[in-house]
Formats: sequence, structure tokens, C-alpha cells
Amino acid sequence: MPAVGMAGGGQLARMTQQAAIALGVRLRVLAGAAADSAATVVSDARVGDDRSLDDLAAFAKGCDVVTFDHEHVPGAHIRELEDAGVACRPGSAALAHAQDKLVMRERLSEMGVPCPAYAHVPAEEPLAFLEEFAGEHGWPVVLKATRGGYDGKGVWIVRGLGDEDAETVRRLSAEGVDLMAEAHVPFRRELAALVARSPYGQGAAYPIVETVQEDGICVEVLSPAPGLSRDLAAEAQSLALRVADELGVVGLLAVELFETAPDGPSGGHGLVVNELAMRPHNSGHWTIEGARTSQFEQHLRAVLDLPLGSTEPTAPYTVMANVLGGDDPDVYSRYIHVMAHDPAVKVHFYGKEVRPGRKIGHVTALGGDLAELRERARHAADYLRWGPAMKEER
Ligand code: ADP
Repeated sequence: MPAVGMAGGGQLARMTQQAAIALGVRLRVLAGAAADSAATVVSDARVGDDRSLDDLAAFAKGCDVVTFDHEHVPGAHIRELEDAGVACRPGSAALAHAQDKLVMRERLSEMGVPCPAYAHVPAEEPLAFLEEFAGEHGWPVVLKATRGGYDGKGVWIVRGLGDEDAETVRRLSAEGVDLMAEAHVPFRRELAALVARSPYGQGAAYPIVETVQEDGICVEVLSPAPGLSRDLAAEAQSLALRVADELGVVGLLAVELFETAPDGPSGGHGLVVNELAMRPHNSGHWTIEGARTSQFEQHLRAVLDLPLGSTEPTAPYTVMANVLGGDDPDVYSRYIHVMAHDPAVKVHFYGKEVRPGRKIGHVTALGGDLAELRERARHAADYLRWGPAMKEER
């Protein structure tokens, strides 16, 4: 059996282990600490720093393929591993587009893929630059760190150059954060297209989903995106497959999209690309129960160059709600209510330390009535979080 090494010890690596068990594939993870989400469930967990070339090289020894559960492994290190003959999937050249938002924007624009207007913000005189950018594209301007962001960290909506916003921009520049500016897209909703591509060149696309965000964090995923026209869904799938193909992605590719009004800034197009991720993605957790092949199994199949699995949904609708950390860390004590209340809701807990606002698990509900499924998933997720509202309800 082949050995797949996954750099990163988070929940994505943890859930990949479930798929590796079924396939009998050996999974090795490189986790920052023995208590990390994946390190506690993977027998071959190595503790090390995935930003250190020495640790990465030692980890890769004996792995048939190396893949990633996040995009923060330095590209230069991945190139070194590749030069030493390690099969890194996705490779450094493709992964660069998920690691640096400016590199991604430049490449997608070259490909004619609709993106928001963007520009690199110079470290000198960033305020004057933003003023000029807003003069052309209007306020608000979306300011993004080109590298290192996640869950909305690294994204700032700048409404004007009033004291507070100007101070934020000055502070970021002073801290040496490399920034880009984007025109604010007045989207109707956010969608995600999840596809897989194997080195052989096979591609597979999951149904297009709607992702509901609060404060920059995805809280709910609806599969398939309700009311999305067949044409737009097919367009989103082929766009993602084309991006995967042209960038040479191996493994999963999630394309986060904005659906704009038909007469929106994309020139009546309807879809604008926000972001790329080349790994299992939060918008695909619904596939564990909601598709014939989970995204985690699909990622393993793709990086091992096996034939890809069916992406066929197992129910008319699947709703996934993220469980965020609340003010009471004893999540398990609330299982009894959630499971008694709704035996058909599936609970996933990542074994992470509970901190307010942190993604610590998710729940999934499948069936035919979308409104009812949303209600059930939301109730379970809210209850597990145990926010102040729940305490009052009790
Ligand atoms: P992250 O890397 O943290 O996931 P994203 O680039 O996906 O950051 O942005 C986080 C959220 O910010 C998006 O889900 C969206 O709600 C909002 N956002 C990002 N870019 C834009 C934009 N150009 N116009 C409007 N909203 C945006």
C-alpha cells in the first residue's frame, strides 16, 4: 500500500485519515504538536515544523506522495523537495496560485476568468494609492494580505479614509504586510465549485454549493446551491475544471465564487472568482455523507493517480453547518441533547481546543426539504456551540 504524507495536522488531515482507513492507504501527517487535531488520530504522526526544509525532507522520506492540508508550506521548500525527486501534489507551480492572492489574480485575469478589479498596494504612500484606486472603482475597497490569510483574517473592508480605516492601513503597512486592493463586489451570494484532477488528467466536479458567511467565516453550506440555474452551475463547474487543468492542479481545487446580479460589474456574467484552495475545503465537508465519494477520498484518489470517484449526491439536498467554539468548552455534554433531538443529524468534532469563534466541528443533515434541513443543522450547530442565546432558551 502506498504512503501519502500530508503536511499539516488540522481537521482536514484528520478527516483524510477516515478516507485513508477505508482505502487501506497509509497516511502520515506532519503536525506542529502531538495534540493537533490529526496527530491524535493518525498513528504515523510526525511532530515538526512544516515551514522547515529539514523537517519537511525528513517527513517526505518514505512517502510515495506528499500533499498538504493548508497552503502555508513555503513554495521554495516544496520546489527543493521536487528537485530531490519527491512527488508533491499539488506541485509548487500550481500551489503558488493558492498561496499568493496577487499571483492568483494575475494568472486568472490572463486566462480571461472574471475577477474583481485589483492592484498591488505599494508599501510607500498606501493611503494615496487607495484614494486613487477608490477614485476609479469606488468605496468600499477590499484590502487583502497577499499571503497567509484564512477565515477572513487578512481581509479588511475599507469604507473610506476616515481615522480608523486610515489607521488600519498605516498599521498594516508599518508591520510590513504585503497588501493588495480589490474592488468590492456587490454579490448576491457566495458559491463554491469543488473539483478534483488527477495527474492522468481525469477531472471530476461536485455540485455547486452556496456558502453562507458571517464575519468572514463560513457558517453554512447548502448543496446544491438552491435556485442556481443549470447554465450557471455548469459554467461554474467548467470554470473550475479549466482552472485546475490550466494551472496543473493535482488533487482537489475549490474555487470560491461570487454570484453577481445579471447586470453586475462582471458585465452581465454572473460569476466572479474570489479565491482558490488546493486541498479538501470547508465547502466540501457535506460530501462525507452527501456524495458517493467524500472530498477526502477524492483527494487521496487524485494524488495517488487513481480513477476518481463518483460525485453523485446521495440526497436531493445536504446542509452542513460549522460548529464554532463558544464560551463553554464541554461540547460533549451537549451531544445528548443534539442526538436525542435529531438522530439523523451527523455530528463531526475535530478534537481541537475550544476557543470562541474557532471552527471545532460541523454537522450535516440530508433530505428533501431544504428549509427544514437548514433549521435542523442550525439548531444542532448552535446547541453544540452553546452560545448565550441557547442558555436563555433553556
Ligand atoms: P480568506 O483568505 O480569509 O478566505 P477571502 O479572500 O476568501 O479571504 O475573503 C473572505 C470574505 O471576504 C469572502 O468570503 C467575502 O465574503 C469577502 N470578500 C472578499 N473579497 C471580496 C470582494 N472583492 N468584494 C466583496 N466581498 C469580498
